[in-house]
Amino acid sequence: MSIPPNSAESASDSTLCAMCGAELSAGTRVCLNCGERLPVVQNRKLWPMWVRFGLWRIHSRKWARRWVWVSLGLGVFFLILALLYAALLQIWVFASLGVFIFVCGSGAAAWYHYSIQWVDQNDSWTKP
Ligand SMILES: [Zn+2]
Repeated sequence: MSIPPNSAESASDSTLCAMCGAELSAGTRVCLNCGERLPVVQNRKLWPMWVRFGLWRIHSRKWARRWVWVSLGLGVFFLILALLYAALLQIWVFASLGVFIFVCGSGAAAWYHYSIQWVDQNDSWTKP
């Protein structure tokens, strides 16, 4: 591992425990000296644009997961509704409208899903 030129300025490599003052290396969740649980730091500035946009105003993993199912559920709901209307009224433009909404819904669900996956692998959640 090489040391970056101005590592003195980027002091984020290590932090001090708020309870006992012990020096802790980056990524440590629990103080090895006193056992104090450290607050989870999330750095959204390091996220790529698509993840930031996908999880805009969403702070917990639970809610992000919920949005995956809401988007998918709405997509399926409108698809069925549109197909029913299309069949009942014999207006087939409703069917293509339903398919369009379904595609948008599953696209949004996939976006949430991959954003969650990205945060899981590259950052942490402040709330579960
Ligand atoms: Zn400590």
